[in-house]
Amino acid sequence: MVVFNVLSVHSMFSQLLFAGSSLLNLKIRTDDYTMTEKRHYSKPTIIRHTVGVMNKYGRPPATVPMNRLVGHEVKELVENYGSPLFVLNVQELRDNYRDMSRAFMTRYPKAQIAYSYKTNYMKAVCSILHQEGAWAEVVSGFEYDIARNLNMAGENIIFNGPYKTKAELMRAFSEKALVNIDNYDEMQVIEDIAEELGTVLEVGIRINMDLNSPPWHKFGFNLEAGHAFEAVKRALASGKLKVVGLHIHVGTYIDDLTIYSRAAQGMVEFYRYIKEQLGVTLKYWDMGGGYASHNTLNWAWLPAEQTCPTYDHYAETICPILLNGPFAAEDAPKLFLEPGRALVDEPFSLITSVAAQKRMPNGGRGIVLDAGMNILSSVQWYSYNFQTGQDSGSMIEDTTVYGGLCMNIDVLRESASVPQVRRGDLLVIPHVGAYNISQSWQFIYLRPNVIAIEDGEVHVIKKAETREYVQEFEQVPDTFTK
Ligand SMILES: *Cc1c(COP(=O)(O)O)cnc(C)c1O
Repeated sequence: MVVFNVLSVHSMFSQLLFAGSSLLNLKIRTDDYTMTEKRHYSKPTIIRHTVGVMNKYGRPPATVPMNRLVGHEVKELVENYGSPLFVLNVQELRDNYRDMSRAFMTRYPKAQIAYSYKTNYMKAVCSILHQEGAWAEVVSGFEYDIARNLNMAGENIIFNGPYKTKAELMRAFSEKALVNIDNYDEMQVIEDIAEELGTVLEVGIRINMDLNSPPWHKFGFNLEAGHAFEAVKRALASGKLKVVGLHIHVGTYIDDLTIYSRAAQGMVEFYRYIKEQLGVTLKYWDMGGGYASHNTLNWAWLPAEQTCPTYDHYAETICPILLNGPFAAEDAPKLFLEPGRALVDEPFSLITSVAAQKRMPNGGRGIVLDAGMNILSSVQWYSYNFQTGQDSGSMIEDTTVYGGLCMNIDVLRESASVPQVRRGDLLVIPHVGAYNISQSWQFIYLRPNVIAIEDGEVHVIKKAETREYVQEFEQVPDTFTK
């Protein structure tokens, strides 16, 4: 239920409203209202109240203050580690991994999660997931190096992506990593490597299908156009490559389960075909990532809690279809899953401080935070929620939330339900672990601390930047200062 409360009653518009409401049917009949004197126009201020019951648009926004985070006072965390501050709930990350792994392994015993590094490749995050049993999925030589530096064996690394250098591929093959080929140029380079190493190299082929609109055709070889079949045949024709894997990654934040069922169906049919036609036997198939997290997309009607499939939904969509593939039970290929967003989004929160509040010319409320798009790039996609870090009363106002950057585009949300806050008050933004940190930019502010909390203990897993750090590689030649 939505209630409108007219706060300032001093305009022609509000007089019209009064004139109207004095009539029983509440219709405004202007002929009952005679304007006697022309008054200066001022806009009415209408504040939307959202009362805490379910309505046809779903649940109301959270109004419960989030004074504590992972057992610690939000205020105290900021006193000790500054604001803004990323906070990782380690147990939640572990539970999330275990939940996904269980969902798939109960339905396909040879399932293995390879964590998509690009989502958040902080060493502590990757280490926790490796502790839980995750392999690494990397899409650049830099990420590959991070994984090796964390002591991941090459054979537990999946190397994807549209651009891998020859040196990176050489390293990956000599360390027995799994490489999925994206395009013919890469295939050629890998054949050269096979030649140099004097061996036949085992490879995976990345395919894409017409699944979503617009379809993801950038990566791999298209199935419907016949390119995927040609690529497998072409790889085999050289005599230097052996195709042992198929890879697909259907998109990101895919909450439409039919996309996964069609992708799995396509994989099975394609495997059957290349087995018959080319005698291919797969050691693995890889269904990629794209699983949704509990963040609501900007254009979505319903909150993500109500639309986001569970891991069980994904697993029961994908696994039974793959089990119909052309293999005996004991020869089932390994099944790789490459979740990124779904694993790390929810366990992270961002604590930010209110820098200013203002009344906007349209009558609405605006607030400026000390965190902007520089550390929250996902605001392009997500309607983040803002929960107060202290008691701020139950009066919720529709608010435009601005980031702290000196750029007009730095708007974190055009319209959010935010309780009354003042400069210095804290807001907690839940579910910020995916992509924001790895895509953060250093622009006019330094990146903040990132802490992880487990068993009551707080660990700094990334220290806030300093000016010296940011300028470390800059140089001013003497001639510029003479
Ligand atoms: C980015 C990426 C992923 C992870 O995607 P999410 O949407 O974060 O789950 C998995 N596999 C590949 C090949 C990717 O490029």
